[in-house]
Amino acid sequence: MPAEALFKQDAYAKNCIATVTHAGPEGIRLDRSIFYPTGGGQPGDSGVMTWADGEARIIDTRKYRAENEPEDILHILAEGSALPPPGTPVEITLDWDRRYAHMRMHSCMHLLSALLRDVAVTGGQVGAEKSRLDFDIQGEVPDKDFLTAELNRLIGEDHAVSERWITDEELAAQPELVRTMSVKPPVGHGRVRLLAIGDNIDLQPCGGTHIKRTGEIGAVEVAKIENKGKQNRRISVIFRAP
Ligand SMILES: [Zn+2]
Repeated sequence: MPAEALFKQDAYAKNCIATVTHAGPEGIRLDRSIFYPTGGGQPGDSGVMTWADGEARIIDTRKYRAENEPEDILHILAEGSALPPPGTPVEITLDWDRRYAHMRMHSCMHLLSALLRDVAVTGGQVGAEKSRLDFDIQGEVPDKDFLTAELNRLIGEDHAVSERWITDEELAAQPELVRTMSVKPPVGHGRVRLLAIGDNIDLQPCGGTHIKRTGEIGAVEVAKIENKGKQNRRISVIFRAP
């Protein structure tokens, strides 16, 4: 059995108890985890794993994929770490400040894509300090100060961030819901999670971790808008210093 992905039920859980199912030089797999594995433009979590007679840094979390096995969560330990053998009870604790920054930034990227509803998103990357989305902009490039003001308006309005579920078939019938061409929606499990912001601000499939209200994002700033190829415009956002 793959790990139960606890971050899907509660993105705010900072630590949890789990049992080791597999341990090897590639990393540790558990029966449950709050650690988000790299995907959808959001980096994998880092933190600490402790057990009765050991401790190790978790430097990254990735999806574990092997033939004939269900997808699992792989916790990658710092080089030279001791490995808790299968069956060991462990406690895992997130680098919470980093993960929370990812949650705030990820939700902020949804707001940015909502401000540019009519153009396709061609890529993106969430980071703890800086995040970006690439847009296929054919016409006029939006103004940096305007986007900064609009983002901060949506953040200040403190909209609820919630989730809804639809079936793979329902999603296939509404392809306009998929905004990011480079990130495949998480289909194949029968149903897909949609992330909703406000009543009608943004709605798109997303498997990432998010904050509960846009106000949690805090003040941000569009740092730059760059030309990346013919029609590609890269918009980078940073947290505004308090
Ligand atoms: Zn997302």
